Order: sequence, then C-alpha cells, then structure tokens
Amino acid sequence: MREKNFEKELPEGYKQAMYINAKQAKFGIIFNVIALLVLVAVMVVAIIPLYQSGRFTLDILRIELLNYLIAMLVFVVAILSYIVLHELVHGLAYKILTGEKLTFGISWSCAFCGVPHIYTYRKTAVISVSAPLVIFTLILTPITVLLYFVSPLYYLMFAFILGLHLGGCSGDIYVLLLLCIKFRKKNVLMRDTGPEQFFYVKED
Ligand SMILES: [Zn+2]
Repeated sequence: MREKNFEKELPEGYKQAMYINAKQAKFGIIFNVIALLVLVAVMVVAIIPLYQSGRFTLDILRIELLNYLIAMLVFVVAILSYIVLHELVHGLAYKILTGEKLTFGISWSCAFCGVPHIYTYRKTAVISVSAPLVIFTLILTPITVLLYFVSPLYYLMFAFILGLHLGGCSGDIYVLLLLCIKFRKKNVLMRDTGPEQFFYVKED
C-alpha cells in the first residue's frame, strides 16, 4: 500500500517545476511577516468580544504573583510544546504513509520536518503538510472559546497560541495551494527535505 504513496526514484518523464526554501531570505521573511499579520488579526478578533463585554481591562493582569507566574509558565510550555507537536504531527503522517526516514530541525525562519529521500504523490504530500493545520485548529479553537468564559488572561494566552498556529502554518498553506491549485491539473511529485520543497511534474 505504502509504495503507492511515494517513489524512491524520480520516475521517467518528471521534471522539476518549482523549488521553495524557507531558509532563503525571500521565503523566510515573507512567511514570517504573514505569520505576524495573522497573529495580530487573530488577537484583534479575540479582543473585540472581551472589549464589548467590558472585560478587557487591567483587571486581567491584577492577579496574585504566584498565579501570574503559573500563567506565564503555562504560556511558555504551551508555545514550546505546540512547536514540537506541530512538527511531530507532520512526521507521524509522513511515517504512516511512507514508512521512510524522517528529518527534523530548526532554522532561523522555521522549525521543520521532512522526508528527504523520496518523492511523494499529491495525496501523501497534502495529508502530511495539512495534518498539523487541521488537527491543531480543531484542538485550539474550542479550548480558546471555552477559556473566554473561564478566564480572560488564559483566553488571551490561548488566542495568542491559536494566532501563532494559524500564522505559523503560512508556509504549509502555501505548499497546499501549490499542490491543490497551481499543480492541480498535473501529475505532481513532491520532495520535502523540511525547509525545502521540490515539485516535479510529468511532462505531457
Ligand atoms: Zn508545518
């Protein structure tokens, strides 16, 4: 079954059609600027209902020092866990679909996971690239909504993490758009080293 999901060698007739590299200044800066804009947008959307209900005041920060430290600890641990789990979900999807050797890392512009020695078909690439976007949106959105009714401070913290998640997926979303829109009419293979994606299309 797994063999249908990828190729070990680039099959005859396929030519490299595109190459993107998150470590290149061009892509790294653009994706991070988009991520920042998405984060700001999510925070604005999160603050509006709090403001309208009259709960967006300095009282949010008027808590005991110990509770404040606990909140900051939860915040930092949640962000670091999210970054690791995001990459592990990419890796898990690639592992299930291909069984091949994975690579993980972190660069100045992003954390990454890839499966560098194979060429994956569209379905494998789409599932693996979109898995963290789908899973963490489904986990973080209800948590954030629930926290709105519990604690404004924790609500804003998790809205921030949701914004970080949605913005941080900008590179993944770009790859999905290429696979599903730009190359939708082509037979396409993708090689994903982590920071780099190579796209190959079959020449007619
Ligand atoms: Zn990702």
